[in-house]
Amino acid sequence: MGVYERFGVAPLINALGTVTVVGGSRMDPRVLEAMAAASGSFVDVPLLLDRAGTTIARLAGAEAACVTSGAAAGLAVATAACLAHGDPERIRQLPDTTGMRDQALVLAAHRMVYDQAVRLAGAELVEVGTSTSTTLEQVDAAITDRTALLFYFAGASGMPGSLPLRDVAALVKPHGIPLVVDAAAELPPVGNLTSFLADGADLVVFSGGKEIGGPQSSGFILGTEPLITECSLTNFPNHSIGRSMKTDKETIVGLVTAVELFVQRDYGAIFARWRRLSESVVAAVNEVPGCTARIGYPTVPGIQPREIPRAYIDQAGLTAPELRDRLLRRKPPVAVGVEGGSVAINPQCLADDELEPLIEALVSELSA
Ligand SMILES: *Cc1c(COP(=O)(O)O)cnc(C)c1O
Repeated sequence: MGVYERFGVAPLINALGTVTVVGGSRMDPRVLEAMAAASGSFVDVPLLLDRAGTTIARLAGAEAACVTSGAAAGLAVATAACLAHGDPERIRQLPDTTGMRDQALVLAAHRMVYDQAVRLAGAELVEVGTSTSTTLEQVDAAITDRTALLFYFAGASGMPGSLPLRDVAALVKPHGIPLVVDAAAELPPVGNLTSFLADGADLVVFSGGKEIGGPQSSGFILGTEPLITECSLTNFPNHSIGRSMKTDKETIVGLVTAVELFVQRDYGAIFARWRRLSESVVAAVNEVPGCTARIGYPTVPGIQPREIPRAYIDQAGLTAPELRDRLLRRKPPVAVGVEGGSVAINPQCLADDELEPLIEALVSELSA
């Protein structure tokens, strides 16, 4: 019996992507080996965290890095750093922000489910503009002596109500207001590890458990030296906002190993494989009467990364949510996305030997 079947939970075929509710990602055996080795002895955890940050910064090409228990934790820790700025009294006082700059500006078009992590640290979110239109003048006018940071969601940068990161950075920099970017799922391309920093971000938060393929409950913040030190002070294992977001020694070692492997991966070959998988799905589905399938790319923020080709499927007699639900009820269950009115097949997490069962499941439900 498999490890999940013991609990009466069936493993599923993941055609959805590096989505947390279906398990995020598969760890490379070398990551698992490093984690198992890490479990064999005790270690100075603050020192390990510090050295892991140095290693990740070097691999990423950033000035400094802080390891967190995921990107959402990274947002809370980065926000706490921008509120307390390393002051021991303030670190202990949070999420009570009395006496501190306490507001996080956010473009209305960048509001999303993960910004609760910003509020978790004690900050109040202040929206600027509307979901369809925002100007730099509006951002400028929103800056007050309560502004502690500007929170920028990289996944929404292409939305009508967004502004280019570079322009926002140039605006807030003279005010000394840190710019915190949520880039949790913006990999690949590997170049995004540094592109947001190059555009003027001060802190950029990534998930370790998505395309990087580290432990699901890992992540890191990249940024400039003084701010990353302030992040570390408000992060685990200090008694602070970050103390509730623990990263164990196995996770720390696993994350560093995964980042090492990630920056060496041949993404030319990986993209070619993703394209082949998507094309196989499209070809098979187009054989089914009443069905149309095509290769495409996501146009809605949050369905990341945007560069991975998807197979979009439409079936005249079935809505996309109906098809998704039918696929989830199969044995084994198949997890797919819904985007617009179509089912979206994301090849990102598919193993080679899952292509055939995936196609079989699709053809069977689409012909039913
Ligand atoms: C996945 C995701 C997060 C959360 O990342 P975790 O590592 O799961 O905590 C935050 N923001 C965005 C945009 C994400 O896609």
